[in-house]
Amino acid sequence: MRNIFLTSFVRFIIAAMPIFVSCSNDDVEMENNQQNTKQEESDTIPKLSGYKECPDENHPHMIDLGLPSGTLWACCNVGSSAPWKFGSYYAWGEIQPKQYYVPETYRYAILEEVDVKVSPTERNYIYTNIGSDIAGTEYDAVTANWDKPWHMPTYDQFQELEDNCSWEWQFMCLENGIKVTGPNGGFIFFPAAGVFLNNRLIGDNVVGYYWLSSLCVSAQQLAYSICFNEENVHNTLGYNRYSGLPIRPVCNN
Ligand SMILES: [Zn+2]
Repeated sequence: MRNIFLTSFVRFIIAAMPIFVSCSNDDVEMENNQQNTKQEESDTIPKLSGYKECPDENHPHMIDLGLPSGTLWACCNVGSSAPWKFGSYYAWGEIQPKQYYVPETYRYAILEEVDVKVSPTERNYIYTNIGSDIAGTEYDAVTANWDKPWHMPTYDQFQELEDNCSWEWQFMCLENGIKVTGPNGGFIFFPAAGVFLNNRLIGDNVVGYYWLSSLCVSAQQLAYSICFNEENVHNTLGYNRYSGLPIRPVCNN
């Protein structure tokens, strides 16, 4: 998988397909899938309702893809002002973006005591255990920056997207990315926002990595991310926690 993505970094001929969404969203017809109100008159907790696509510029919107769990996905990333914009980048478990994404600046990594002669690249870090799933916790950048009920997506919520939706490499408003269409025809767009390493954004418009809230249990230094590329490959990948990745929020029903 990593080889496939490394290959993608050096490919700049992009076979992008048009996506029929206006950059201004002015001509996107609003379609609000309000739940049947009579059904909600019971004493159960009212369910959240969503749109089938981003309807206007009052982001974020809850998008209903018709998923079995009722999970609604946000129309845009944290820190983004439009569905095709990259937004902010976070190290896993941190709630503020920053300038340098390296182990030295990662809040939840501690440098092992080493001989000062060891070069920085060979030094070992011990990664603090902040939980196997940080969704909705104090380490969740979505919960910290957006109002409830938004939170980071879990591994299972990615798997639900994978199992129920079609994924197609697309082009939206000068940005490449993946259009994910649910069983009800609702869709969201993940821009290929690349990744911040050190103080450099790499792979933008070629690959996308998005944090999930789930730690890789076999390797404390890694957390799961959604990953996709221009070859229409989409999967999960354990990524170094200190890296800067965007986040696409969800809310549960
Ligand atoms: Zn929106």
